[in-house]
Amino acid sequence: MLKNIIFDIGDTVIDVSSWKNNLSDVLSNYFFKNYDINNKDFSLAFKSAMAEVNNEEKVNPHIDKINYVGHALAIKLGLNYKSEQDIKRFVKSFRNRNWRLFDNSEELLSKLSKKYNLYAVTNSRVETVNEIMDVFPIRKFFKSIIISEDSGMTKDDGGLFKFFLQSTGLAPEECIMVGNDLVRDGKAMQFGIPFCFVDRKNDFSEGGYTFKITDLNELCNILNLFENEHSGLPKHSKFYVKNGKHGLGCFASHFIRKNERIMLFKGPLITYAQTKTKEHREHYFQTGPESFQGKAPLRRRPVNHSCDPNAGIIGSETLIAIRNIKKGEEVTFDYSTTMYNDSATFRCSCGSRQCRHIIKEFRYLPEKTQQRYIEIGVVPKWLLKALAIK
Ligand SMILES: [Zn+2]
Repeated sequence: MLKNIIFDIGDTVIDVSSWKNNLSDVLSNYFFKNYDINNKDFSLAFKSAMAEVNNEEKVNPHIDKINYVGHALAIKLGLNYKSEQDIKRFVKSFRNRNWRLFDNSEELLSKLSKKYNLYAVTNSRVETVNEIMDVFPIRKFFKSIIISEDSGMTKDDGGLFKFFLQSTGLAPEECIMVGNDLVRDGKAMQFGIPFCFVDRKNDFSEGGYTFKITDLNELCNILNLFENEHSGLPKHSKFYVKNGKHGLGCFASHFIRKNERIMLFKGPLITYAQTKTKEHREHYFQTGPESFQGKAPLRRRPVNHSCDPNAGIIGSETLIAIRNIKKGEEVTFDYSTTMYNDSATFRCSCGSRQCRHIIKEFRYLPEKTQQRYIEIGVVPKWLLKALAIK
């Protein structure tokens, strides 16, 4: 059961980096007005100060830079200590005014904190976290905030996650990590913590995460997947779940060879009438002439339909690859291969050249397609028997 949500703060909950885009211009004006330093001299100093800061170890690239940039600039421009303090103050107040909360993160945190224990785990300095919490009233939502400077560990090698688990005594499978840094936040997975990657630019699709969202508000969809999930996530899953063209789907987390087993579908047996209920409507499939498997744990779903699938069901509940599947490719099977006397036809927009547009029971498939599926072995025996096909 999922009980704890661990958030990264900088650039996950709070946009702390976009203010930087205007920093150079604002500072350039400031130096011209207060120190009579021209734009060219400033630009050179700013560039090299930023480069220095980027090399500074254990500095969160977006959050803590600010504490060094004023210092580095003052030295480069040959200014005294008092000026340095003024510059730091100026930059800080500019930054604090330009930080913003993402999406509806305040409402979201408030809502989630009523149901889950929320934690924050951040590569940062204590002072910076305090400043953030002064600007935004979100501290109250977190049970505790674990800061790299405090613990002496960082996310970079996963040490901070180890520290988190040790200091809280929590079981990794009862937690989920939510963060925007594929490499650093993704280290949580090494300790068995599922990782929900917040990829706002939707740039990465190659895995390295358990789930992917492009907007924090989608987190609720992911959390819903955990409902009714008792056994936790598979440890070495061949797929991960993210939003694709057709809503949530399963994507190969690495190359899957033809005939390789992908997952076992396990769910409660339900009646035909129950397939029409809200709970099961979009999640069931047929496992016998009169039997259906209902909404199942995460392990099974959500595998989408395709008229040109790369996977199929053998036996009655084992999904296997019917051709090689590339890493990052969505895993699909043809729903018609398990539809016998099910009236629930649906529209398809899978986009494949073979798309049938309306998806119906197996018996309505073109004969060639039927033959092909039967030869591959992905039409359940019970269905062939019911149709009296040998
Ligand atoms: Zn189709």
